[in-house]
Amino acid sequence: MARVVVVGGGFGGLASAARLAKLGHDVTLVEASDHLGGALGFVEHDGFRWDAGPTSTLLPAVVRDLFRKSGRPLERELELVPLEPVQQHRFEDGTTLDLPAGSRGAQHAAVERALGGGRRRSPADEWVDYVHGFADVWDTLRREWLERPWSPEHASKEARELLATRASLHKHTNRFLRDERLRKVASYRPVLEGQDPRNVPAWVGMWSYVEQRFGAWTVPGGMGLLTGALEQRLVTRGVTVLGGTTAHDLVVSGNRVSAVRTTTGNVDADIVVCAVDPRRLPALAPHVERTMPAIPPVVCHLGIVGDVPELPPEVVLHGDPMLVLRTGGTAPDGAHAWTLLGRGRLAEDIVSILQRCGIRVRDQVEVRVDRSPRELVQAWGGSPDGVLWQGRGTLAHRMGTRAPVDGVYLAGAHTTPGSGLPSVGLSAALVAQLVGPA
Ligand SMILES: Cc1cc2nc3c(=O)[nH]c(=O)nc-3n(C[C@H](O)[C@H](O)[C@H](O)COP(=O)(O)OP(=O)(O)OC[C@H]3O[C@@H](n4cnc5c(N)ncnc54)[C@H](O)[C@@H]3O)c2cc1C
Repeated sequence: MARVVVVGGGFGGLASAARLAKLGHDVTLVEASDHLGGALGFVEHDGFRWDAGPTSTLLPAVVRDLFRKSGRPLERELELVPLEPVQQHRFEDGTTLDLPAGSRGAQHAAVERALGGGRRRSPADEWVDYVHGFADVWDTLRREWLERPWSPEHASKEARELLATRASLHKHTNRFLRDERLRKVASYRPVLEGQDPRNVPAWVGMWSYVEQRFGAWTVPGGMGLLTGALEQRLVTRGVTVLGGTTAHDLVVSGNRVSAVRTTTGNVDADIVVCAVDPRRLPALAPHVERTMPAIPPVVCHLGIVGDVPELPPEVVLHGDPMLVLRTGGTAPDGAHAWTLLGRGRLAEDIVSILQRCGIRVRDQVEVRVDRSPRELVQAWGGSPDGVLWQGRGTLAHRMGTRAPVDGVYLAGAHTTPGSGLPSVGLSAALVAQLVGPA
């Protein structure tokens, strides 16, 4: 049985701790703040409750696998329900696209309804072909990169070529989608995560395929409930949680880790899982000095009273700035809890921009909690959006699952496969595979 110390209690750290404890290790989790979850948690004010970060997840199989492999299945603890539509996209020319998941046919019909058909190759034809073009990419990367620790010696030529591509998402969408509105739909996730599609590799577009095929899912009552369920799982599995304890560095001798240096002293370790930005730990920082964090969006949580327009769970208002409105928070009777995320040129108040986009609730706002990107990074000790893409070289500059220090592994948004709940959940599964049973 190895003594494992997990640094960071966000989704990446919680998932790693639960999996490794189930594998029989003696696990201690070190978390800087006095509560767990990182971005996966709630903001509460005057009877309103909003998800602080994620409100839904792609690839629900990742969360289900985590619960199954660490004890009882998810269904015994929480419900996961599909978002329908997965998003509503509103464009500056007044068109609205309600994008469903589930099938190519459903997306074709929705795009045709919103953007028109008629031409020999309609925007709808282009969209479904664009998305379907990632089917093989998904299949290859899922097998060789997402579900198995990456090993260039054992990887197929196809997988190596995909990951080494010079083509950017921007170039790829320009090549396959003539309609500018669809190019925006294709790039909206990376843009929301603080990325510039010119610097993002083309294969990242596979998440559009994943979204179409498996949908986007949420937990009724808020994704933050996942943190509570995982916290309970750690109790069941006997994980020691050191809350309010910041890890300052690793103790390394002869390139092997022996402890984590924290605010309350050293915690001895045979194995360390770094589930925070590794730039924060001096023993790891030199190995990632060429990376930069992707900065979180501007966040504004709103408590609104009175009648509001009926809206789906996620509305993307394209333009500069791009706003994403998430309507699924919990509110007292007769009120509504919405969250606005902003990216781009926010030259005026974000609620006024929403008003200008035709969603007129400014005068009904009773409670408002603004969180700047700087505040968020401070609160979470780093960016939950992980590493900024600076071209294909970023893959080599970012650390993979195994760190160059013996006994150290990485999980969370700053490592392979990247940010977002599905990737972060997969990162913990990769760590568990490499560490193995006690
Ligand atoms: C506004 C916003 C909306 C998002 N929406 C979605 C969404 O809808 N769907 C989706 O899939 N993803 C979404 N994401 C991304 C997703 O939230 C993250 O990728 C994921 O939660 C990151 O998890 P993590 O464990 O890597 O990091 P974090 O959640 O950042 O957790 C890191 C934890 O480590 C702790 N910590 C930091 N430094 C130290 C230290 N030195 N010592 C001890 N503890 C430390 C922090 O306190 C924190 O608890 C969103 C992100 C943001 C910011």
